[in-house]
Amino acid sequence: MTHGEKTLVLIKPDAIQRGLIGEIITRFEKVGLKLVGAKMVEPSKDHYFHHYENIGKMVSRRGQKAFDVTLDMMQMGPVLALVLTGVEAVALVRKMVGATEPKSAVPGTIRGDYSHMSFGHADANDVGIPNLVHASGDTTEAAAEIAHWFSEAELFDGYETVHEKFTQTRKK
Ligand code: ADP
Repeated sequence: MTHGEKTLVLIKPDAIQRGLIGEIITRFEKVGLKLVGAKMVEPSKDHYFHHYENIGKMVSRRGQKAFDVTLDMMQMGPVLALVLTGVEAVALVRKMVGATEPKSAVPGTIRGDYSHMSFGHADANDVGIPNLVHASGDTTEAAAEIAHWFSEAELFDGYETVHEKFTQTRKK
């Protein structure tokens, strides 16, 4: 029997301030993902530094300026941190979230359906890209991110969803 993969999702300040928490969580619930952790937090810059640079290596991938404006954007308000589990949940959630740049995110994805912004506009205006959600990029990143945002006591995998009857991912 295989066990479900876990992944971290952050519902970012722009999504919270636009009243999209429900829409976003509904999509994850409908596809059959199981919510095992959820909390609203307003983390420090150091916490985001660890998330986006120590784990996400963002400066080397996107440059110092993109990193700085992203940290400013993330500190515009609280985020809702979620842990979801399911069959190959990391790839599933990335597919549902869509491309980093909303301009490139296809319709049907969360970013493609609910946000619009381009890299060009963000660069010209020195702003972070408000793309609603963060989702772990791979299973190694997911494990590091979940450990960074949640303690073991804050994760609740002990209940069974109807979906798990069919996917058989629940630990017996
Ligand atoms: P993703 O969130 O899709 O995994 P990255 O890890 O590369 O993408 O970037 C983290 C976040 O930083 C993005 O989701 C976006 O909000 C922001 N970002 C990335 N690149 C830029 C950029 N060039 N300008 C402004 N913000 C950016």
